[in-house]
Formats: sequence, C-alpha cells, structure tokens
Amino acid sequence: MCVPGDADIETPVSLILAGKFCQLPVRLIDYVIAHEMIHLKEHSHSPAFWRMLGEAMPDWEVRKNDLAAAQAELVWSVEGEA
Ligand SMILES: [Zn+2]
Repeated sequence: MCVPGDADIETPVSLILAGKFCQLPVRLIDYVIAHEMIHLKEHSHSPAFWRMLGEAMPDWEVRKNDLAAAQAELVWSVEGEA
C-alpha cells in the first residue's frame, strides 16, 4: 500500500487502488486515501505521520484495524476461489 516517493504536494497526483480495495466500505477506502495523501508530506510512518493523519482523520486507528480485518477477508476470499 505504501510506496515512498518524491511527490510534491503541489504536483497533481494519481492514486490507483488495487481492484480488491474497491470492494471495501467507503470509510476504509477513505482511510487508504488519507493515509497515502499524508505520505505526500511525510514519507515514513514516523510519529509526525501519525499525528498528521490523526488531524485529518481522528478515528484513523479504528479504520486501520478495520482495514486489516477486511484485508484478511479479501485475501481469504481469493484463496478460497483457487
Ligand atoms: Zn503508509
């Protein structure tokens, strides 16, 4: 999900979500987008990163945990189809 780069916040950016992410509830897609947008300012998962994410999305920890659970379900579904 995280690919550090040299993006500048003034530069238009594109965010491409893997197909499986599009199956997630909107609130979790919002978390992924917010997470990646904060990486435009702070590349690492430093304390500053989490502080900025908290300012943008106060319930990020709940969403992060829900995303982890949802991702496990998505992977399980793909494996179950094989
Ligand atoms: Zn990240």
